Amino acid sequence: MKKIIIKLGTGILSAGKGNVRTDRMEQLAQSIAILLKEGTQTIIVSSGAVGLGMGKLGLDERPKDLSLSRACASIGQCRLMNAWSDSLEKVGLVASQVLLTRDDFENKKRSQKVEETLNTLVDRQIIPIVNENDSVSDEEIKFGDNDVLSALLATIVKADFLIMLSTVKGLMTHPTSGSLIPYVAEITPSIDAMAKGTHSPTAVGGMVTKIEAAKIACRAGCAVFIGSGENPSLLGNIINGDDAQGTFFAPSGLKLAERKKWLPFFPSPNGTLTVEHETIDAIMEKGDSLLAKGILSITGEFEKADVVEIKNPENEIIAHGITRFSKNELLRAQGKQNEEILVLFAGKNRPEVIHRDHLAPL
Ligand code: GLU
Repeated sequence: MKKIIIKLGTGILSAGKGNVRTDRMEQLAQSIAILLKEGTQTIIVSSGAVGLGMGKLGLDERPKDLSLSRACASIGQCRLMNAWSDSLEKVGLVASQVLLTRDDFENKKRSQKVEETLNTLVDRQIIPIVNENDSVSDEEIKFGDNDVLSALLATIVKADFLIMLSTVKGLMTHPTSGSLIPYVAEITPSIDAMAKGTHSPTAVGGMVTKIEAAKIACRAGCAVFIGSGENPSLLGNIINGDDAQGTFFAPSGLKLAERKKWLPFFPSPNGTLTVEHETIDAIMEKGDSLLAKGILSITGEFEKADVVEIKNPENEIIAHGITRFSKNELLRAQGKQNEEILVLFAGKNRPEVIHRDHLAPL
């Protein structure tokens, strides 16, 4: 069985005035039922308690009085669970509620209990609905957002895939005028910098905490997807890496050769390397790495560890790969022999631009 965690933001689940977007919950429940039949267990991390409680009490802004905020969570959690329970029941599934605090993750004995309970539930085909226990959490020690909570949960239950759905489209190169980054092979400082510029009015955590969460989950060998939850019936597409709107983060705990299997799914890499025929033969037929001397032209903007596409001189895409050089480095290395490259980049211990373990012919 595969195990996935789906984390949903308040903006996706709340319809305002304390009402729940049951349409989205029902769509998701249908997709979860299909996945279960195909051998995928799901744990949901659901936000929305505070927001729904505020709506019920007619509050427009998050209360400054913390006991009122905790009271809102208590009211909203009840509505949230009713709606989840009803939506899952419509497709023959049973919901269960698990409320966690930070202590549950920091104390080994307690985190083992969390793991045991969740595994017992999913093994019986029950769908756990997890949230932070906001009605009793002390502000000083609480997570505050469910992004990091869902990533820690992914490490505890050894999930294969963490899917974070909210009102954001995914990681953008620039918050207002940028384009969507479909695939991140490694979370580098340039990815952190992009996240800082992003702001969503409804999200509690925003992109910064989502990237923090992605780092935790990826390090534990769990793949991550950050994208829009506006159409939950696309869940199957996300899992199959099929035309999904969002950013996919490759798990870093995997062996290099295993990482390669994710590469072909990501249709718009950051850059393009056009290479000569002889080099294409070496890659496609002999399984060689890509060397700088076979590169004819370099386009796009990319950093070290970004995904790039490789084209033949006829402009056909023949492979995707993770580059060991940034665009600027590559411009300096282009056409050079291996020995010259090692001298030019004293820090690099190998001359390949894309190692064969990071090259996926399409
Ligand atoms: N636990 C909070 C709630 O249910 C939400 C935190 C978040 O949106 O990340 O309202």
